[in-house]
Amino acid sequence: MAGIYLHIPFCRQACYYCNFHFSTSLQQKEPLVDCLLAEMTLQQPYLQGQPVHTLYFGGGTPSLLAEDDLRRLMERLHALFPIAPEAEITLEANPDDLQPGKLRALKTVGINRLSIGVQSFHEADLRWMNRAHNSSQALQCIQDAQAAGFDNLSIDLIYGGPTLSDEGWAQNVQQAIALKVPHLSCYALTVEPGTALDAFIRKQQVAPVDPDKAARHFEQLMQWVGQAGYEHYEISNFALPGWRSRHNSSYWQGHHYLGLGPSAHSFNGHSRQWNVSNNARYINALQEGKVPFEIENLTPAMMLNEYIMTSLRTLEGCNLTLVEERYGADKRRELERGSQVFVEAGQMRQEGSMLVLNPEGRLFADGIAAELFV
Ligand code: SF4
Repeated sequence: MAGIYLHIPFCRQACYYCNFHFSTSLQQKEPLVDCLLAEMTLQQPYLQGQPVHTLYFGGGTPSLLAEDDLRRLMERLHALFPIAPEAEITLEANPDDLQPGKLRALKTVGINRLSIGVQSFHEADLRWMNRAHNSSQALQCIQDAQAAGFDNLSIDLIYGGPTLSDEGWAQNVQQAIALKVPHLSCYALTVEPGTALDAFIRKQQVAPVDPDKAARHFEQLMQWVGQAGYEHYEISNFALPGWRSRHNSSYWQGHHYLGLGPSAHSFNGHSRQWNVSNNARYINALQEGKVPFEIENLTPAMMLNEYIMTSLRTLEGCNLTLVEERYGADKRRELERGSQVFVEAGQMRQEGSMLVLNPEGRLFADGIAAELFV
């Protein structure tokens, strides 16, 4: 069981906080699609014939692709890989791309799940983030997607930003719940080095992000969506029963995946590799018949630490029996010893052989995981 990720590295405009790989120059769109097709052929052996249960078009902004480009990509994927008939096929989309005609086209080419970058329903937040859409598009695209038959729908929301009041955050979450959006991905606004937001803060053109506000918004979020019946199945992800993202879950469960496109990562159980994060260099290499990637072989310690980091972020938690089977009884004991301080602080609990974060610990998930690294 495996997944395939395709990175579409183009955006209409640069959101101030974003550090993903993308270009706002769309001139290379056609050659890049040709190179994705070429890379698929070259990388076809990577998954060793494992059935593919999830496809994910991420970015960047995959909804910028024309129907014909998507159709060519889908046809080649189906020709080269054993894609399961019930595969989850997700496309990340921005609200300003999702007119009814586009939604019909996405359905026609086989997309069965949308992940929409709404971020906020408030105009002030969207302008502050330099998003390409406005607040009415944020709302309208969800209604249009549902009318077009996209029941499997996720929206992204960002909390903790300076323009977002506590009341505004409550309205955003309640709006998503009222619209019956079955999956929410919610992220604290973070200031990544090298982004426009980072520069604005350094020049004191905008106020620094307030971590207390972000913590408050996260705690409120857990409470509101919990009351509305959503499962908090991963630190940043919430789903009504039956609507978890299968693609993202497969990353956390350690399944193999092939990443195609500039900056895309792949994992095959013993090594990780990543393509060059540069559109021109990616295209030049593929035009010469080469995939431009770097590779890292994973040691048992690296794999165990990665398992600790990803599993603690999930509702199910870290399986100590699995740790013992794969990495030895001493590693299990080390983990149990290390976790005691967090159990005593009420941030974590042990249920049988599972180590699970309590709501009090979820805010510090990555820091706790790092403390437990072997
Ligand atoms: S649309 Fe998404 S990928 Fe593009 S700049 Fe904005 S946040 Fe980044």
